[in-house]
Amino acid sequence: MDGVLFELSEVTVRGPDGRERISGMDARIPDHGITVLAGPSGSGKSTMLRLCNRLEVPGAGRVSYRGAPMEDMDPLELRRRVAMVFQRPTALPGSVADNLRIADPGAGEARVAAMLERVGLGGFADRRAAELSGGETQRMALARALLTDPEYVLFDEPTSSLDPSAARSIERLAAQLAEDGTPSCWVTHDLGQMRRLAHHLVVVVGGRVAQQGHLDDVLRSRSAEVASFLAGGDEE
Ligand code: ADP
Ligand code: MG
Repeated sequence: MDGVLFELSEVTVRGPDGRERISGMDARIPDHGITVLAGPSGSGKSTMLRLCNRLEVPGAGRVSYRGAPMEDMDPLELRRRVAMVFQRPTALPGSVADNLRIADPGAGEARVAAMLERVGLGGFADRRAAELSGGETQRMALARALLTDPEYVLFDEPTSSLDPSAARSIERLAAQLAEDGTPSCWVTHDLGQMRRLAHHLVVVVGGRVAQQGHLDDVLRSRSAEVASFLAGGDEE
């Protein structure tokens, strides 16, 4: 695979109880398109995503970004370059513009307006953030994440609390971003969403990568373990 952006080599992460949440994981995430991390609940997808912007540090093994060890990077600088959108978007008190400026207090009106336009919230700058719908709040969170001009965006089940139409609008934004040159990694256990979004697919089962590669290749050559996950669907 050309253009590896994130590489996890023999990464192990343990919880406070000593149990392994990620076990000797080897994973590669490309520098283009959308990479979907799919797998059953509790398989380690969120932990893996958090390793990619140092919200989590491996107990053993290495995580690298653009070929450089992540432990050598300034975490704050890294998080400006690798932004994260969480499952439950947070709306802090104040206006939508105030919420965006948390990411960059110096952002001017035009820049805030441009980011809101980009996520389909044109004209929302002065609205109370607390009054937005779930879908609008998640789009606001994405605009906030984009304010630092990230090179990459990590999405952790960003649509799991949204209705289908709001979910599709977030999916379309991620697809558009990737097309415009900001690739992303998207965690989901929703197989339909996985098929709609993934260029590259990493199937995570039991803290390890069960299979990874081009979506079509993984679906075609699925191992028994991956077939079993795919057959089980997104029952949660
Ligand atoms: P997924 O996102 O695939 O549902 P997670 O990465 O959240 O999985 O979790 C992987 C494993 O680590 C699970 O067994 C989970 O219970 C455990 N885990 C997750 N977060 C923590 C934490 N903060 N402390 C201890 N264990 C955790
Ligand atoms: Mg998770």
